[in-house]
Amino acid sequence: MIKLDFHPAGRHFLQIPGPSPVPDRILRAMSYPTIDHRGPEFAALGLKVLSGIQKIFKTTQPVIIYPASGTGAWEAALANTLSPGDTVLMYETGHFATLWKKMAEALGLKPEFIGLPGIEGWRRGVQADAIEARLRADTAHVIKAVCVVHNETSTGVTSNIAAVRKAIDAAGHPALLLVDTISGLASADYRHDEWGVDVTVSGSQKGLMLPPGISFNAVSKKAIAASKTAKLPRAFWAWDEIIEMNKTGYWPYTPNTNLLYGLSEALDMILDEGLENTFARHQRLAAACRIAVKAWGLEVQCADPDVFSPVLTGVMTPEGIDADAVRKTIYERFNMSLGTGLGKMKGRMFRIGHLGEANDLTLMATLAGVEMGLKLSGITIKASGVTAAMDYLSNQKIPALKIAA
Ligand SMILES: *Cc1c(COP(=O)(O)O)cnc(C)c1O
Repeated sequence: MIKLDFHPAGRHFLQIPGPSPVPDRILRAMSYPTIDHRGPEFAALGLKVLSGIQKIFKTTQPVIIYPASGTGAWEAALANTLSPGDTVLMYETGHFATLWKKMAEALGLKPEFIGLPGIEGWRRGVQADAIEARLRADTAHVIKAVCVVHNETSTGVTSNIAAVRKAIDAAGHPALLLVDTISGLASADYRHDEWGVDVTVSGSQKGLMLPPGISFNAVSKKAIAASKTAKLPRAFWAWDEIIEMNKTGYWPYTPNTNLLYGLSEALDMILDEGLENTFARHQRLAAACRIAVKAWGLEVQCADPDVFSPVLTGVMTPEGIDADAVRKTIYERFNMSLGTGLGKMKGRMFRIGHLGEANDLTLMATLAGVEMGLKLSGITIKASGVTAAMDYLSNQKIPALKIAA
């Protein structure tokens, strides 16, 4: 039996695409005493995180923060905007898109699930033209919402949300646009207002570097208007009362005080680095990771270079090699966790997370662990991915660290 206080020497490499490693700064911030959630100090915290998180979503509209995992915020997005029996157009990019569709069914919606057939659909992003064609055919406007996953965490594919918006507009269709960027936010470029998204769903434990336990709905005026007539039952998830109380920095129930301390710290860290710098860092690490995979002679799960994820890289193992056995070897020998293959990709791939609290050297340590693990698993590699990634990273022109005087 594994003891819960099992802590081998050195730090565990948590290289799964969420939860991602929580920086010490955030862990310390979370250890502040829990305060009265109706007291004056709490309002200062509430107002700070509510306005700070808008910058991360790039929105001037309200962002609702729930004490729940991302799955809760998925439900909130659907329950606040839709009515029983509504048809929703959902796009199959991978396992998470599939889970969201299952939830829509469970809530009494009628999801229409479109996408490229078989594994192929799990190797590419959302095909906006397919959405446009389906909406054009829906002249009666039966479809009430289009739901897509921005960063599909099961495969390492980041879809073009601006293109989906354009497709909806080109079809002249009034459907709402609902987007899951649970694993994309604060790691991949995301623009809630500019892209005309009606509800963006996100979570704490990926790019925001927090432990699991809070999640978000960024909304639009159109989404709020839809919520006034939407008939799906909702109580805990209902936006209106939360948005009203949030105006003064409070919640209608006990919010997750210590995770909000953590969120406050995470916002400081991300906004100090600068969102665009954060995105560039993720792009650099992802590029280095793919270079390593290519050098090893393995295949990246995402087959379209235009939609490579900056958050994680899916690595396919050669025919006949169980990817989970490779992960097990790496875990047991090097104390590193890699993401498992989900759904259709079970056993065929593993996922390397390079998000949040990640830099060149944490990526290099990760790649070293993977390279050793591949060899220990009997996989013949073409060349050293570690060397290839080091060559790439050392040639990147990035500003030197500046120590403030
Ligand atoms: C992690 C994740 C979810 C699920 O979030 P939970 O916090 O596990 O409920 C949903 N969608 C995507 C894209 C994710 O990465």
